[in-house]
Amino acid sequence: MIPVLEKLAAGYRAFRTLYFETNKTLYRRLVKDGQKPKVAVIACSDSRVDPALVLQAEPGDIFSIRNVANLVPPFEVDGDVSYHGTSAALEFAVTCLGVEHVVVFGHAHCAGINAMVQGQQGGDVAGTFIPAWTSIAARAFERAKHEEPCSEGEDLLRCCERNAVLVSLDNLMSFPFIHERVADGRLQIHGWYLDIAEGALATYDPATKTFVPVS
Ligand SMILES: [Zn+2]
Repeated sequence: MIPVLEKLAAGYRAFRTLYFETNKTLYRRLVKDGQKPKVAVIACSDSRVDPALVLQAEPGDIFSIRNVANLVPPFEVDGDVSYHGTSAALEFAVTCLGVEHVVVFGHAHCAGINAMVQGQQGGDVAGTFIPAWTSIAARAFERAKHEEPCSEGEDLLRCCERNAVLVSLDNLMSFPFIHERVADGRLQIHGWYLDIAEGALATYDPATKTFVPVS
């Protein structure tokens, strides 16, 4: 087998003998009763930011939605047929599974946010789909500039990454099925941010408008 795939196949074998055998009852119960996760997590597709690993979640714990830069698009219904992967996943998590929490899981050194910043600074963003998708977070650039007018370089990127989480929280509320459940208390939404170099997680506190380290 190709070495990089053999590494993954070896991982699978370890999963079978070490994890699956020990947790067989859990898997069987999740098949019999179905999944009932209480938390949906919107994380980046970045290979370094696996929410199940970072949060040490077990099967059935979190419903993961992953995309470039952990973005939530605004609610929109197009006239023509189009495909809203993230919106469909959110709809399923909230209206079908009835999750009680939605977490936007941002992270440092995000290539998607870097692309957005480049675009906002007048640079070319490569790709057919990446420029439009990452522009969802354009308001984070404005917020970062407004909030810390002197920030640039890596500071600007970190600031945009954190603000992109807040833009996604705002966009979550544009979905009627989320707005309605947040209003009547069935659902809570949260913004988290992972510093991958330090392995440090922080959660957004709306009262102080800051990200507070998780101890
Ligand atoms: Zn990312």
